Amino acid sequence: MRSLKDISNEELLNLLKSWNQPAFRAKQIRAWLYGPRFAASYDEMANLPASLREKLAGGVAPFALNVVQTFTDPQDGTIKWLSELQDGNTIETVLIRVPQRTTVCVSTQVGCAVRCVFCASGRYGLVRDLTKAEIIDQVMLACRELGKRVDNVVVMGMGEPLMNLDSLVAALDELGSPETIDLGNRHVTISTSGIVPGIRRLAELRRPWNLALSLHAVTDEERARIIPTEHRYPLEEIFEACEYHRTLTNRMLTLEYALIDGRNDNHATLERLASIAHRLRAKVNLIPCNPNASNCKSPGVRRCREALAFLEQSGIQASLRISHGQNILAACGQLRQKRSEVRGPRP
Ligand code: SF4
Repeated sequence: MRSLKDISNEELLNLLKSWNQPAFRAKQIRAWLYGPRFAASYDEMANLPASLREKLAGGVAPFALNVVQTFTDPQDGTIKWLSELQDGNTIETVLIRVPQRTTVCVSTQVGCAVRCVFCASGRYGLVRDLTKAEIIDQVMLACRELGKRVDNVVVMGMGEPLMNLDSLVAALDELGSPETIDLGNRHVTISTSGIVPGIRRLAELRRPWNLALSLHAVTDEERARIIPTEHRYPLEEIFEACEYHRTLTNRMLTLEYALIDGRNDNHATLERLASIAHRLRAKVNLIPCNPNASNCKSPGVRRCREALAFLEQSGIQASLRISHGQNILAACGQLRQKRSEVRGPRP
């Protein structure tokens, strides 16, 4: 069954017309979907006639996700949802709350073709791309939980976003529309492992969404140890694509850098990281590596702070990300993997 957020307004109008319903019903339906209640079922749409609700329920799914597990971190309030899609596949979505803002981290694919060695999402490769509705409804899930529009959307969940760019752009454009939740472009961050054609395509769309590059290693040799050959591009090509993106969008790049004890936290490596950040005029986000996600070990708080101080002294805008949801396996793909371990991986 198709999802409501996958059909255009025109298609919805035609559907309503075929049932002899007035056009204003489409507006009513959209008002229910995008606030203030962010409806996920036709039963909630109280001003629609019961007969219309019944017809809609028989032909178009009101919500693309069925939440099967919810985990809340008792320490920081981070929520992680495992949702089942219509075909039985599962995806993860995370809502992070800090006092100043709320952020939802969404998935764009079931599995991932890039297969970074440290990542649970890529372990079984790519299963399929998510649809526009499946991406939008992860944001709606967060809005429903909050009872208001979420502040930020980060596209850093399962999947490589730039390998499902059409659905992602359609979803983000819809969420940015004043007729939906009017999410400002600057409140969106798309994170990539460095898919060069995708970065260039994204640049040419000229949307001022933020771009983050998961760098994690400063030489091609080191990167080869964490990203398999098939979807790994040479660093120089990635940097040129990032410069192209900045030229066309005027947005500052963020370099995401997972600090791994004894691997990429030594002085020479950090010096090289600073020089890359200077060249790309990028800020650096240091992330102590998530011990749940891999065999990697985090360097410890003191070493992480020293790395931060070194970058700042080198004139780089840098931050140290505090990991949220450590108690609920909040790194992408871990819940889905845990469920697969229990039920066996899908073919
Ligand atoms: S880190 Fe991102 S790009 Fe790499 S396998 Fe995981 S989801 Fe894919």
